Amino acid sequence: MNYLFGPVASRRLGLSLGVDLIPPKTCPLDCIYCEVGRTTVKTLERREYIPAAAIIAELRAYFAGANPEPDYVTLAGSGEPTLHSGLGQIIAKLKELTKAPIAVLTNGVLLIDPQVRREISQADVILPSLDAVTPELFQKINRPVAGVTAETLIAGLKALRQEYLGQIWLEILLLQGLNDTPAELARLKAVLADLRPDEIHLNTAVRPVVENYAMAVSPEALATAAAFLGPNARVIASWTHPQQPHFDLSDADFLASLARRPQTAADLAAVLHLPEEEVAKRLHFLQQQGRVRATHHEKQVFYQTVSA
Ligand code: SF4
Repeated sequence: MNYLFGPVASRRLGLSLGVDLIPPKTCPLDCIYCEVGRTTVKTLERREYIPAAAIIAELRAYFAGANPEPDYVTLAGSGEPTLHSGLGQIIAKLKELTKAPIAVLTNGVLLIDPQVRREISQADVILPSLDAVTPELFQKINRPVAGVTAETLIAGLKALRQEYLGQIWLEILLLQGLNDTPAELARLKAVLADLRPDEIHLNTAVRPVVENYAMAVSPEALATAAAFLGPNARVIASWTHPQQPHFDLSDADFLASLARRPQTAADLAAVLHLPEEEVAKRLHFLQQQGRVRATHHEKQVFYQTVSA
């Protein structure tokens, strides 16, 4: 499997089968907190970054095989999935292949494009992000490609809400000393009243970040912000594994552990004391680099180091 990862236990989506539509690290933003790393291709260009036929072939094989039925199929990527010009085609095919609901994780930047909204609207849940409303803060946190502003992002989100009948779960990632001030939270709240997301998910930089000034807010600050934003706001940050030195995502640790015996993402997460979602992502990257291979056995996915 080159483009599928998991299924893995996800905080929000239960057992989630990930579909990676975009190669690392292609995105219209270069967020200071991005857990995937620095953006190397900052673009708004939609194209078939990975052949849609290859992704569909993997999905077909997955659902034809004796594999676990996921709670959600989640379109994501090592960047922004709406950049893939085959997004609509892939969601339509997924609807034929599985009854599992389809979720799309997006930064929301391309929602200003009516064609993107048409394509993504086939999904059951859309999880966009909005970290800041103040133009300077948006620039500072999300570092967009030229032409993208907080205003265009909000306009796209507003148009989506007007047209889309499915669930919108909007994520806000709060950073200490940046968008966590009472003034910015009040501005966000005013915009959210217009955007009417079904849920508001509050997160912070609990994972490795790109810039060391992207600092997590406290659990108390998140809880206070959630209470301020209203009854549909909740904290999704996982504090089980805070941003500490033991949160070591070195490839060597993964490869050494997998060289000893094939393991599932859950096995490895337990061994390395890391969240399973993180482990699955890293395994996916190592797989893309040809350093790890995945095999299916008894409805589980096992990973093993490829010997040099
Ligand atoms: S939008 Fe997502 S993938 Fe893109 S830089 Fe920000 S956090 Fe990373």
